[in-house]
Amino acid sequence: MAEILLDSNAFRHNLKLITQTIKQKPALVLKDNAYGHGLHEIANMAQEYGIKDVFVKNYAEAKEVACLFESISILYGGLDSLDTLGTNMALVINNKDILDSLRHGDKVELKINVGMNRNGIDLSECQEFCKEIAKRGLVLFGVLAHIGFGDEGGDDFTRQLANFKQAKQHITTICNKLGIKLPRFHCLSSSGALRLAQNQECIEGDLVRVGIAAYGYLEAPLDIAKDLKKVASLWAHRICSQTIKKGQSIGYGGKSIVDKDCIVSTYDIGYGDGFFRVSENHMLTTAEGYKILPRTSMDCFSCMSDKPKVCLMSDAKAIAKVFGTISYEVLVRLSPFIKRIVIPPKV
Ligand SMILES: *Cc1c(COP(=O)(O)O)cnc(C)c1O
Repeated sequence: MAEILLDSNAFRHNLKLITQTIKQKPALVLKDNAYGHGLHEIANMAQEYGIKDVFVKNYAEAKEVACLFESISILYGGLDSLDTLGTNMALVINNKDILDSLRHGDKVELKINVGMNRNGIDLSECQEFCKEIAKRGLVLFGVLAHIGFGDEGGDDFTRQLANFKQAKQHITTICNKLGIKLPRFHCLSSSGALRLAQNQECIEGDLVRVGIAAYGYLEAPLDIAKDLKKVASLWAHRICSQTIKKGQSIGYGGKSIVDKDCIVSTYDIGYGDGFFRVSENHMLTTAEGYKILPRTSMDCFSCMSDKPKVCLMSDAKAIAKVFGTISYEVLVRLSPFIKRIVIPPKV
């Protein structure tokens, strides 16, 4: 059976390196099945490491990890009528409607748009929202923004950071006026925080929301990128081997024709497992260097190897390059049905 190996040593190494670099406690982003790695496995490793605060995609994910952390923030969606927000959970608020799904005493984190123009409320609406939150007896646990230029840096990054600082001042004033306890403030994700750290600039906010870097990747060209270690590798097991004669073809459409007699094996990962479909337009090898023979199928691929097991991916960035995308997409697509195996910490 195919499997994803999760190296707990690499994960710990990354968290330690990130913490030393940004000199601030990281909150871990566990959304989307921990970027495809496996929510349970990564959450347990994070808890063992000492992570206290996490961000998840929705209420279903929050419930899965609720017993492990001091705070779990839910980035998207409201609650259904039968759901109850745990006392250590907070719901991120992007609009007024979502407030209707909450009960007296529930925690919220208010999302502010600081120029990415994707999610969040406008600065001019802050007072109204703070009043509404107080009126409903909800707890303003945090105020957050997301900066859309962490990978690129430059003036846009600086401007959005300045907008956040302004929002923070503005909301502090509102809270003081309304007698609301000051919330936590945060706006940086991996690349933005590590970029500021590299430039020895102040890391804004009470915490940093670290996602991709904890898993060993950065799309931004920062020095620290080369010192991060990849946590996940994807392994496929042999289904069967065939002896193929010179000139014969393999698979759908017969797109791979062998130029000599050889042994070809199929392995148990296909695009149904969330790995990209390799067609005649792509050139891809396994981590060991065996050419993957197009076209790959829903549940298997062929390659010129007779090994019982091959590594289909040890570096998501290399795969991303072949398919014209980013490491995030390669990782997050990995099917939750693939077995996860944690490599234990070296003692
Ligand atoms: C995904 C996400 C992050 C983490 O971003 P990385 O680039 O993976 O570090 C942080 N904040 C929010 C709101 C997110 O949605």
